[in-house]
Amino acid sequence: MRRVSIFGATGSIGQNTIDLIARDPGAYDVVALTGGKNIAQLAEDAKKLNAKVAVTAFEDCLAPLRAALAGTGIEAAAGEAALIEAASRPADWVMSAIVGAAGLAPGLRALETGATLALANKESMVCAGPLVMQTARRHEARILPVDSEHSAVFQALIGEDISAVERVVITASGGAFRDWPIEALASATPDQAATHPNWDMGQRITIDSASMFNKALELIETKEFFGFTPDQIEAVVHPESLIHALVGFRDGALMAHVGPPDMRHAIGFALHYPDRKALPVHRLDLAQIATLSFRPADEARWPALRLAREVMQTGGLAGAVFNAAKERALDAFIEKRIGFTRMTDVVEAVLNKLSAHPGHIDAGITLDNVREADHLARQTADDVIRQANWNN
Ligand code: NAD
Ligand code: MG
Repeated sequence: MRRVSIFGATGSIGQNTIDLIARDPGAYDVVALTGGKNIAQLAEDAKKLNAKVAVTAFEDCLAPLRAALAGTGIEAAAGEAALIEAASRPADWVMSAIVGAAGLAPGLRALETGATLALANKESMVCAGPLVMQTARRHEARILPVDSEHSAVFQALIGEDISAVERVVITASGGAFRDWPIEALASATPDQAATHPNWDMGQRITIDSASMFNKALELIETKEFFGFTPDQIEAVVHPESLIHALVGFRDGALMAHVGPPDMRHAIGFALHYPDRKALPVHRLDLAQIATLSFRPADEARWPALRLAREVMQTGGLAGAVFNAAKERALDAFIEKRIGFTRMTDVVEAVLNKLSAHPGHIDAGITLDNVREADHLARQTADDVIRQANWNN
């Protein structure tokens, strides 16, 4: 039986992972499931999958979790240290699907045990790509991308000579506002931004799709994961979300990965790799789809893409600063303290402020330095938001 753990089990990726695992009950020995505040879901899944331990990220949720698991023999635990302890437990395959920079430390710990890490938490790569890759190499652990674009690139590269790659094109749906007039974006609400045309995902990543911060993170993730240079990586808007990415080779060929917008493909690919097992995803009827369309990824509409290029060029801790400032700007937008288009203004201001001080962005990428940069960027973002009083 394969030992598996799922970090962020109660989220959108976590639930899709559980859907696949639960279809094959005899095949998996579930070690740890982790979640946040949705204790009912966490406890229900821990019981269904007979997990050894269920962990909530939040200490104040421990009592309800204990109560929900009473008499089952399943351990209950809470807090950051408990997440790390759960990541230390031997497993063959670990899903990293916590949202945000909070996913970094448990993912690193899982790699240190030599487990295969299925990486949905793109923020790990953005904040600390070189550290994540080095930890995997040192412990001979494999990382498999779960972000659909990166799974697509990974699949297009199988059997290929990476030095023959000219470029990588990742696609973007364009999110909720792709057809809005640019002038209307400033007054867009969190509810409007949290509606995705094609994918059913968590609230934060859905809003990040509307602002293209998600694609910005993915451009950086592409650089860190595959080692391509920033000028080899492009984004294109593809409203149908059927082509997930394309890899262009030096002979001019473009290899595209095509499939329905269902994360169970990328999760299942990572779960069964190197085998390809049958997956319960819809099969595309191309004649019915009839057309696939593309538009330029306009940096005037989506300035987050321009910032991603700058971050890729700067390197070092710029990714950690970018992600942390984005997380705080997103919090402020969700809480209606700033307008939609102000999110990029906040992130740009934080990058500029911290680049001006040596050591904040150009220090080495250790977990401590990443944490410090993350902390400082959050504080700076909060200051920028407070001082600017940007609620439009
Ligand atoms: P989600 O919001 O639906 O779920 C997030 C999970 O993380 C939940 O289990 C939640 O309890 C947990 N969590 C939240 N805050 C936490 C904290 N501080 N500490 C520990 N755990 C915490 O998110 P999601 O959409 O499933 O996305 C998860 C990750 O996968 C993100 O990094 C996202 O960018 C990436 N991703 C998601 C999709 C998708 O289709 N949803 C696609 C590609 C990549
Ligand atoms: Mg993606």
